[in-house]
Formats: sequence, C-alpha cells, structure tokens
Amino acid sequence: MALDFSFSPEHESVREMIRRFAQEEMAPLVNEAEENEVFPRALFRKWGALGLLGVRYPEADGGSGMDKIADCIIREEMSVVCQAFSSSWSAHTHLGIWPIWRTGTPDQKERFFKPALQGEKIAAFGLSEPDGGSNIRALRTRAEKVPGGWKLNGSKLYITNAPIADFMLVAARTSPELTMDAISLFIVELPNAGFTIEKLKKESVRSSETGLIHIADAFVPDDCLLGDRTGTYSVILDSLSENRVGVAANALGMARAAFEAARRYADERIVAGRRIGEYQAIAHKLADMAADIEAAKWLVYHGAWKVDRGELDGALAAKVKLVASETAVRVSENAIRILGGAGIMREYPVGRIHRDTLLYVIGEGTSEIQRNIIARSLGFKA
Ligand SMILES: Cc1cc2nc3c(=O)[nH]c(=O)nc-3n(C[C@H](O)[C@H](O)[C@H](O)COP(=O)(O)OP(=O)(O)OC[C@H]3O[C@@H](n4cnc5c(N)ncnc54)[C@H](O)[C@@H]3O)c2cc1C
Repeated sequence: MALDFSFSPEHESVREMIRRFAQEEMAPLVNEAEENEVFPRALFRKWGALGLLGVRYPEADGGSGMDKIADCIIREEMSVVCQAFSSSWSAHTHLGIWPIWRTGTPDQKERFFKPALQGEKIAAFGLSEPDGGSNIRALRTRAEKVPGGWKLNGSKLYITNAPIADFMLVAARTSPELTMDAISLFIVELPNAGFTIEKLKKESVRSSETGLIHIADAFVPDDCLLGDRTGTYSVILDSLSENRVGVAANALGMARAAFEAARRYADERIVAGRRIGEYQAIAHKLADMAADIEAAKWLVYHGAWKVDRGELDGALAAKVKLVASETAVRVSENAIRILGGAGIMREYPVGRIHRDTLLYVIGEGTSEIQRNIIARSLGFKA
C-alpha cells in the first residue's frame, strides 16, 4: 500500500509555469486594476492561449486534460498574486461553464463552452438573489414558457463577471412549485434586452467585477435551456461542492502571500535594536500562521485528490472550504498586526489580501452554511 504525500513532477512543472505567468503577466496589472476596479479583460485571452481556462476538462472536449490537483495548484499560485483576478477566473472556468460541459447539447458546447475555453467569451453564473443567497431554495427568478422559448423575470445579486460577461448561466424556476425540481438553468447571451446589469462597488476583490441584475421579460430561446428542465438542481450542487475545494486553494494562496509578507517584514524591521521577529509575541504569531497554512494546504490537496478519485462528498468539501477560508482570514489579519502601521498602508499588499480573504468566508456558501452542512453529516439538523 503506497501513500505518497508529494506532488508529481508534472504537478511541480504546472506550479513553476503558473508561478512565472502570474509574476510576469498578472502582477504588473494588479495595482491599476484594483485602483480603478476594472478587470483587465485581455487576461482572458492570455489564459485561454495557455490552456488555463480548460484545466479541468478532457482534451477530447477541448480542455487541457489536467486533474483537480493541478487546478488547485493554479488557483493557489494565482491567488498569491491577485485574488480578484482568480475570482473572475473561477467564476468563468468552473461555475460558468462546468454545467454546460456536464449537461449541454453539442450545439451549446460549440457556441458557449469552446469559445469560453479560448477566452473568446467570458462566462458568469447567476444563482444568488436578494432573497436567496444562503438559502437557494428561496430562489424567486422565474421562467415562463412562451412560443419558441422562455420569458425570465426576477433579479440576481453579487454575480461575478456579470458586467463583463458574454453569457451567463441563470438559475430560474420553471414551474411555480417550491420544489428543487423546478429550478432550471438557462444560458443567457449578453447583452439581452431584458437584462439590466449594475456594477457594484466593493471593498473586497475590487478588480473582479460584480453585478446586480434586474431581469424584466427577458426572452431566452428554447435551445438555451441547459440539460433537462428538471434535474438541474443536483448539477448545481455538484458544481458548488467541487468548487468549494477550488476556492479553498485560492484561500490557501492568499494565506501564503500574507504570511510571506509578514515573515519578510519581521526579518527586516528593527524596533529597539532587535528584528521584530525576535520578539516572542511576533515569532509565535508567525509560527501559528505557518502551522495553520500547513494544515490547510494538506486538507485542500486531500480534497482535490478525492475529487480526482470521484469520492468527494459535500461534507468534506465544506470542511476543506471552512478551514482554508478561515485560515486565510486569520493569517492575513495577523500579517497586518505584524506589519503595524505599514499593514494598513497601500504600499504593502497585506491590507488588500485581508480584504480579499473575506470573500471566501461569504461567497460559495458562508462559513455558517459550511458548518450547517458538516453538522448535518454528523446527524444534527442545523
Ligand atoms: C464578491 C462576491 C461574488 C459573488 N459571486 C457570485 C456569483 O458569481 N454567483 C452567485 O450566484 N453568487 C455569487 N455570490 C453570492 C454569494 O454566494 C452569497 O453572497 C452567499 O451565498 C451569502 O449569501 P448572502 O450574501 O445573501 O448572505 P445571507 O444569506 O443574507 O446571510 C447573512 C448572514 O446570515 C447567515 N446565515 C444565513 N442563513 C443561515 C443559516 N441557515 N444558518 C446560519 N447562518 C445563516 C450567513 O452565514 C451570513 O452570516 C458572490 C458574493 C460575493 C460577496
């Protein structure tokens, strides 16, 4: 029985490649993008040209044919440099196109999935609503059958990439019953006359563009209904579970970036004649941060390994996300404390990183919702 706790040579070369790409092609764009809260759209074409948008998809379907471990390595390294860019990447490469890959018709794959893999079309995923963030069951957007297609009415809130997307998967109720079977997914090409998209101003992941969407009598043709009208809910749940492992890798990258900045600072900053890292209070903080990161790292890659074996369950996905995202918040807050006043100056990255870590104790299901999922797996109705 072999148990190997190391990455394969292929995984190491993926890490080397993405590290170089993130440093050379992404890092120079960060400050301006964050300041202006505008996503540098040309990045999608660059990601596409390198095969970074099709990491998780088989080569036969136009993807790069890598595994979930490689996907997590790419997320981790991109988030070391910029979480906002990684958030837009994640909403596109996973949430926005995975359901099309899983259940789309050959025509839908040709029109939406393949151009998305090249970065020619940008995808978004519209599930959350003003009354239905944590509680998906409260989803109110409805789709009514009309000749040749469907008419959509409702709203979507906090949708990543909405202001820059060429198409959006929109979850809507196709019958009035409040059952899960009534929730279906539509591929909506943008612009659509019935969609008004308002760009939101945020404190976290500022250069990942996020939208509030008003949907009024938006017509969507029959051939843009995704998969079976009923039965889509389980596809959404599977997609969210797998992506929780993915965003945990993003959180790990942020934690690492904050830790490295704090370690460098503790090594260089002299107070009362001593490097601050020599004060036990600071050294212990760094020790706790290093230990937390190590624990989160191996939980994330255990989750990825489970995905690759087809063995991921919802409770494990929730544990992975909970631990990694809370670790990132804690580590980045401690990094700010270690830097003192410098910690909240824009000259240093830790303030931005800390703001960005807050995304994943909220998005993709809050920490409380992850705890509910875990508690239910323990037999307690949370
Ligand atoms: C930057 C950003 C990007 C996003 N991108 C997308 C996207 O691309 N697509 C998309 O569909 N959604 C997206 N979201 C939405 C995200 O998934 C929701 O914000 C999240 O699910 C929480 O929903 P809410 O904001 O409505 O909070 P609420 O549901 O209002 O929750 C408020 C508080 O109540 C707690 N709470 C709620 N219910 C329970 C409960 N049963 N038990 C215990 N506590 C509970 C929550 O944990 C939280 O602390 C994004 C959000 C953000 C912030």
